[in-house]
Amino acid sequence: MTKNHDEPWGTGAEHQAPAGPRQWEQRPEHPHPVAPAAPAALQPLVECPTCGKAAGDELSCQFCGQVLFLPRGITLSTAGLRFGGYLLEGVLIICTLVIGWLVWTLIVFQYGQTPGKQLLHMRVVHIPQARTAGWWRMAFREIVAKTIVGFLAAVTFAIPYFWLLWDRNRQELWDKMATTLVVSDREDRLRLTSSDGRVGTPQP
Ligand SMILES: [Zn+2]
Repeated sequence: MTKNHDEPWGTGAEHQAPAGPRQWEQRPEHPHPVAPAAPAALQPLVECPTCGKAAGDELSCQFCGQVLFLPRGITLSTAGLRFGGYLLEGVLIICTLVIGWLVWTLIVFQYGQTPGKQLLHMRVVHIPQARTAGWWRMAFREIVAKTIVGFLAAVTFAIPYFWLLWDRNRQELWDKMATTLVVSDREDRLRLTSSDGRVGTPQP
């Protein structure tokens, strides 16, 4: 028992020795016994830079919505804002007689936005690159992916449109297809990152 620290298998030996009750407390060479390392699944998780809580191993903090791979202050857009955005998009389409909205859309795709998202300070972020989605990814997301999900929704009582309500990162199915997140970027920190590289340095 007194040679535990010499055993090749290290601290785990404490559990294997036939120690008497409280005997480990009397070992002079271990005045402060070291607890065995926790299994990987129980290791402390990433601390959220915004709220300071253990944010888990998801893409975003489950408490405050901070996106963990983006600068502080960039949070997942709330479900209310997302659905509000859909409504706003419809209003804009009508008010601009479709064609205005279309031209506007093709311009702001490069910023990871649509007209509604631009007005609401929301942005689409490409997860693997940790930066604003570029023009072609936006085109795929808005046209191809939403069309496919639209067909799916037509035969499933529109349930796929509400996917973000139970998704941990508030992704819609078209977000899954395009590997994107929708974030709120109120201070425009992610501006222009689609053309000049990674995010992480707030614009001056
Ligand atoms: Zn947080």
